[in-house]
Amino acid sequence: MGNGDRIVGAIDIGGTKTALGLVGEDGKWLARETFPTPFEAWEGCFSFCCERMEALLARCGIRAEDLEGVGINVPGMYDYVQDRLIRAPYAGWRDIRVREYFRNRLRISRVYADNDVNSCALAECRFGHGRQYGSFFWMTVSTGIGGAVVEGGRLIRGRHNLAGEIGHVKTAYGTEARACACGARGCLEAHASGSAIGKEVRMRCGRNKRFAEAFEGTGFSADAAGCAALARGGNRAAARIYEEAGLYLARGIAAAANLLDPEAVFLGGGVAEALDLMFPSITCHLSDYAVADLAKIPILHTGLGYDAALFGAAALVFEAQAAEP
Ligand SMILES: [Zn+2]
Repeated sequence: MGNGDRIVGAIDIGGTKTALGLVGEDGKWLARETFPTPFEAWEGCFSFCCERMEALLARCGIRAEDLEGVGINVPGMYDYVQDRLIRAPYAGWRDIRVREYFRNRLRISRVYADNDVNSCALAECRFGHGRQYGSFFWMTVSTGIGGAVVEGGRLIRGRHNLAGEIGHVKTAYGTEARACACGARGCLEAHASGSAIGKEVRMRCGRNKRFAEAFEGTGFSADAAGCAALARGGNRAAARIYEEAGLYLARGIAAAANLLDPEAVFLGGGVAEALDLMFPSITCHLSDYAVADLAKIPILHTGLGYDAALFGAAALVFEAQAAEP
């Protein structure tokens, strides 16, 4: 392989699905596959990922030692400096040395790991529209909400790899504030995440018979995705739920913009697929909370869709290489 053929292994261990693949620097996939995440003991899951990666390498006729490196997304809080997966809530895993395991097992020294929110931000930077911006704020709006800060093409990780943790920034106080899974109240995640929107939908279905019948009549599920489909079909009550989520997103985005003054804000994740339903509300409220010109910051949907995380795992390797002397 020549210098133009830098190939990277990417593994995205997600909450429900795991994807892995081999990708070139140009973003073209040589091979990739997806399977349900085997949430048993972590060794079983990691070992299966290694087997599948070795099978992909064999199929493409590439030797592991010829890879530029392997990047891995882990589904939880990860200490990048100490190589420690502190906690993976869905899987129930704790205290795991991720890089060490994959290094030993795949016999590759250049192995990097991170949480999927940081990875997605790097993916936008290297493979997405983020290439046009030197600095931006990334938000994953999905079951939960996470964020990441990119400055000069690099991640700002902070001391605990928690920089940009926008999901638990307070966006509501007093009686308006809803309880968050973290134990606090009024967090952005408790007001605008997929699970928050789903909870709101079911609560309003309980109160409003016509709203509940709209779901039954169309066959849409009473969750965030079903609510988006109903809103697109012209249901005002469903549209209002997204407009309200837009208000809280505006407060969160304003907090990030006021603090960081980034060139743009990118949104990815399942709820971000409904950005069109929230966009007028976000832009309208942003001027109430962001200072001066920051209210005009471009708010963009990721160009990478659901592939952002797998691209992100690959981007971890390129980012780490760029940091090396
Ligand atoms: Zn919280």
